[in-house]
Amino acid sequence: MDTNLNSANARLDETIAARAPWSAVLHAGETLRIFDLEGQQAVDTLIYNANDTNERYSCQDTIAAQGSAYVTTGTALLSNEGRTLMTVTADTVGRHDTSAGACSCEANTVRFGHHTRYMHACRENFIIAAARHGMTKRDIVGNINFFMNVPILPSGELAIDDGISAPGSYVDLRAEMDVIVLISNCPQVNNPCNGFNPTPIRVLIWPGQV
Ligand SMILES: [Zn+2]
Repeated sequence: MDTNLNSANARLDETIAARAPWSAVLHAGETLRIFDLEGQQAVDTLIYNANDTNERYSCQDTIAAQGSAYVTTGTALLSNEGRTLMTVTADTVGRHDTSAGACSCEANTVRFGHHTRYMHACRENFIIAAARHGMTKRDIVGNINFFMNVPILPSGELAIDDGISAPGSYVDLRAEMDVIVLISNCPQVNNPCNGFNPTPIRVLIWPGQV
């Protein structure tokens, strides 16, 4: 842990309730830490260039550029224009998913049955968070799933398995340009991505020089 990063000198320190959306603007050089407070909580995350939201996170470019399917320390989170939006500077879990996308009401009905149609989902959270920044659902693209365990099987299939993040696990993301970060604290209860029990998370932001 970077000992300069403690809650006393953070400019923001918030708990995000279970199932809730969240967003923030970070200036270049600032660091965002996301704590999985109770463990096994998927944190769906999207990133945009704060000065031009047409430039946004690209899971395809990120995977291709690093030659690995997982996100972890050292991963450059690239935009659709090939520039680094944020860099993962610390990770106490080891790997995070950026292939499986976000849950939606529509996908839930296909995967789990029509009775799940009215359960809250990440896509709804993203739309709420995006609206705060002048964006709509057409701006929602493939995301990162921090703390979500999506092993890629030898067959090439994606599995959604029990989470591997322990209580207190965290990731640090350094903004490489001014960015908007959207988070959906995933409300899914129909598969093990949240241990069938969505829980709160904590976010902190530090200025570039602390
Ligand atoms: Zn979700």
